[in-house]
Amino acid sequence: MLRGPDEIMACPYCGSLAMCRTWMSGTSFGEIAWSDGKHEHVGMMPPSPPTVVRCRQCAQCYLLAEARKVGTVAPRWFGEDRQADPAWAAAPVVKEPTEEECYQALQDSLRKGPQLERTLRMLAWWRRNDGLRSHPAGDATASAACRRNLEALATLLDEDDESDRLLKAEVLRELGEFEAARGLLGRAGSALYRGAARQLRDLCDRGDRSVRQLSFEESQDVGALIEMAKRTCTQSRLSAIWALSRIGPHAREAVPVLVGLLRDSEVEVAFAAQDALCEIGNWADQAAPVLVKLLGDKRYMVRGMAAKLLGKSGPHAKPAIPALQRALEDESCYVRMYAERALRSLAQL
Ligand SMILES: [Zn+2]
Repeated sequence: MLRGPDEIMACPYCGSLAMCRTWMSGTSFGEIAWSDGKHEHVGMMPPSPPTVVRCRQCAQCYLLAEARKVGTVAPRWFGEDRQADPAWAAAPVVKEPTEEECYQALQDSLRKGPQLERTLRMLAWWRRNDGLRSHPAGDATASAACRRNLEALATLLDEDDESDRLLKAEVLRELGEFEAARGLLGRAGSALYRGAARQLRDLCDRGDRSVRQLSFEESQDVGALIEMAKRTCTQSRLSAIWALSRIGPHAREAVPVLVGLLRDSEVEVAFAAQDALCEIGNWADQAAPVLVKLLGDKRYMVRGMAAKLLGKSGPHAKPAIPALQRALEDESCYVRMYAERALRSLAQL
């Protein structure tokens, strides 16, 4: 990634300077769209500049687009920049407020205009969801502050605007108000939003209130990720597996490949595949025969993973009972523990 010129901005409240980095290039494999409207690039992409920043000097939040640009500092590869004021180069890099800081800023943003309020509410929402983006199995229950924020955001979104209507439906879904969300999603919309609306409706039907990855060209995106998961570079395989995991049940055609990856020579890949299968669902019939074999793997982490997943495989794991009983004598306590748990859950079927 090649750095572009740094833009020097002045805080509208105290005048202190902050630096906003720009980038000349990046390599993108594609874009990830999230159900809450956030977009991310897959690949070596620079971070997008923030829309709202919190001044490091006076702690006020302001919209970057409305701040005064004082000057630019050329990137180092460009040679020495004689135009630049030394104070510019010393300015700290702009910082986006955290979820908590957004809530604090919202207390007086109402006086500063509706645009800032909406931006802060959206950002607080995305910041809160970021935790669930990286841990899709995490607890999606909203905190009291988050609920208040989502309820206020819902009143700011315009139902007559198609994009706002979809966002509002998503806010309601994450609040667990599935009927109201479905009502909004049922209103006629253009082809551009139809795919997203269908996916949000599916999530409502499943009673899912977590932020999820959307796929606008469903099969195509999943297909590209499956191909990426088969490559040799560990990092791109892991990125693809994580992305499939975030797509969840819509990535069901990835199940056979992920089941194959449970046998991978790299433990990290096998564990990522395990997590992805649990997010996608409907894997147990295909995985159970593979898992029985993995109980004999020479790596104790893999044997433990196999026992753990067999415990989640329901009736498909019944043929594994003798192998699980043998695993009760495993040299690793980790494997013994999961074998014991798996046998206990099988006994309850
Ligand atoms: Zn300031």
